[in-house]
Order: sequence, then structure tokens, then C-alpha cells
Amino acid sequence: MSARKQERAADLAIGIDLGGTNMKAGLVNRSGKVLLRGTRATEAGRGGAAVLDTMVGLLGEVWEKAGRRQGRVAGVGLGTPGMIDQASGRVAGGANNLRGWRGTQVLGPLGRKISRPAFGLNDVTAHALGEATYGAGRGSRLMVCFALATGIGGGIVVGGRALFGVGGYAGEVGHQTVDLDGVRCNCGSRGCVECYSSATGVVRMARREAGRRRSTLRKMAGGDLKLLTARMVFDAARLGDPVAVAVVDRAARHLGAAVASTVNMLNPDMVVIGGGVAAAGQVLMRPLRKHFRSYVLPLAARDARIVRAKLGDDAGLMGVAAYVFQQLEGKGAGQRGRKR
Ligand code: ZN
Repeated sequence: MSARKQERAADLAIGIDLGGTNMKAGLVNRSGKVLLRGTRATEAGRGGAAVLDTMVGLLGEVWEKAGRRQGRVAGVGLGTPGMIDQASGRVAGGANNLRGWRGTQVLGPLGRKISRPAFGLNDVTAHALGEATYGAGRGSRLMVCFALATGIGGGIVVGGRALFGVGGYAGEVGHQTVDLDGVRCNCGSRGCVECYSSATGVVRMARREAGRRRSTLRKMAGGDLKLLTARMVFDAARLGDPVAVAVVDRAARHLGAAVASTVNMLNPDMVVIGGGVAAAGQVLMRPLRKHFRSYVLPLAARDARIVRAKLGDDAGLMGVAAYVFQQLEGKGAGQRGRKR
């Protein structure tokens, strides 16, 4: 087979998406379709070496399942909390929720397992790249993603390429200060938008308010506010519970201010709101758009559409695959993975 033909034939990538609870791997084609997949428990408590062992096993499983398609696999990619130094293949920074993961040599073992090049990037950057390439941000020129989960991660994609910044920290949209004297954030700062508009933030505010005022929230949580979840708060807001409505409005207001700052700074054509919290839908998106408009520069707002993410849980896998294809085509904007 000629080199050119071979290159055209290498139309698949294996993506791995590492989370604190589970890791997923999938065989992905150039259209972003996940052709087959596997999953394992991360068991983060067992330490970095054990997590890597499990990951290499999972990669082997997907590789086996690929069968005759192995010859079409161009490479393997990993989306991980933290940041990967592409030159050394090691997890370089962050990843505070995975003890012992930092410093782990990860790209070497992954590449060797299937005799293909291996690449790595931050999981939320991968998520953003997935949405930009195959999901809600498709066709956008400059897209910013806010991934609302336990915390708030983010990513910036310019002309289809992830923006990493000098040290790999570009796109940390969750740690924009929206209250100078606000509550302490995990990052060491205070008043970050993550403290108000993540699932954790919503639950924290709702617990406090429901402890002071009459609300259906206590009943929804089975009488114990410690068992309250963000989903319960959004459900109660949808049903018109005034405490829940006020909490969701507060979350939307802080998020609206952060989205407005981001839009003022970058003038994107698309802002994608993803992550588990975005599943709340209109009950969050409506007040978010309202507050956004009250904080943003009108001219910048004119270009920016705020939309919900489309790909759900597969965004990371698909984004990792997109990154592998881009890197092998030599068009990658950055060589480093990144972040917490
Ligand atoms: Zn912070």
C-alpha cells in the first residue's frame, strides 16, 4: 500500500476519557461516530500506577474488539483531568482528584500497547473540542465551552483548534471572579463562578436557603437537606418553588456575568453550555440568557449564540479522537494537554 493510501486508510482513532469514577474508551471514526466502546471503574483511590494498569487493559480490550479494523487505527488519545506534557508523555499538572496521577508516564504505555502514536490533553478541553468538531459548536469560528458539573471547566476552540495558552491553562472559565468577597473556592481564590453555578454551588446555596425558609426542597430530599442534589433544586424550580427559583436565578446570574465577561473578551460566535447541570434545560438557560444580556457589551452579544451542548457523555471521547486526527495531520495548535 502506498503511504498516501495508508494515510487515507487510517481513518479511526481510539479515544480514552478518564474521569474520577469511570474511564471510557471508544473506537471513533472521522465523523465522530463511536463504533465500539468499553468502560472500567477508575478506582482512583488505588493510585496512579493502578489507574494506568486499568487504562492499558481497557485500551487492549477496545483494540481486540476492533479486530480487522486495527489496520485503520491512526493513534490513541487520552483526555484526563490535569495536563499532559506531550514531550515527556507524563501527567504534568493538576489532577488533584486523582492522587498519584501527576507525574505518571502515561503516553508511553498507551502507545506501546497498540504500536501507534499517543496524544493527551485535558478532559474538558477534549469535551470542548468534541462539541466544536461534531456537536453544538460545529461550524463555529470561535467557540467557548462552559462545562457545568461538580465544578466548572471550560475550553476555547478557535478555527477548529483547541486553544491551550502558553502553559496549557487557557479556558479556565470556571475560575473567573464574580464576587470579590465571595465564598472560598477549591482553587484558593474566592468568589469564582464555580462556587455559585456548578452543581456543588447550587446545592450549597439551596441547603442554606431551604434551612431558613419554607420550601418543598426539604421534602424532596426526604427530610434531610444533606441529601439534596442539584437536580432536585432544578426540578423544584420548574415546579415554581420560590426558594429553588431564587437559587437557580442566583446561579444563572453569576454564570451570566462570567459568560458576559468571556464574550466581551473573546467575541465568540458560540458559547456552548455543557456538563450534567446543563441537562436542567430551559429552567437554567432562560434566566442565564436574561442575566447575560444585562452584563454583556451589546455589540459583542450580537455575534454570540448561547446554546446547550449536544453530545452528552461522548463529547470527551469524540474530542480526543478529533485531537488525534489533528495532531497526525500536523495542524495542532498546541502540543500540550493541560490543567487540573
Ligand atoms: Zn476558583
